[in-house]
Amino acid sequence: MGEAPGEPVSAKKPCACGQPGEYLCDALVPLSREERLRRAVAGLKVGGLAGQATCDAPLCEACRTKVSNTFVCGKNPRMDSMDYCPTHARGLPPPKLTVVSP
Ligand SMILES: [Zn+2]
Ligand SMILES: [Zn+2]
Repeated sequence: MGEAPGEPVSAKKPCACGQPGEYLCDALVPLSREERLRRAVAGLKVGGLAGQATCDAPLCEACRTKVSNTFVCGKNPRMDSMDYCPTHARGLPPPKLTVVSP
């Protein structure tokens, strides 16, 4: 809609503040009733972790709240971060650091 030709099209959804949503909220939220039903009909599990989804709210650098960092050691060391949107970050303990070695 109204995109000028030649402009790079970003698939990323913007953050609530209008900045590019570089991150997604990793908070677990219960599946909606419709989604549970859809999964049950499809023969998928809906109990425990399978009954949850991530919030996935788009977040920019300024709006994300880092809740934890996970360092994965080994051949391809990398760092995963967990970010929460302002709604889910409320009342959370300070970030924790987890190191995973295979
Ligand atoms: Zn933002
Ligand atoms: Zn969230």
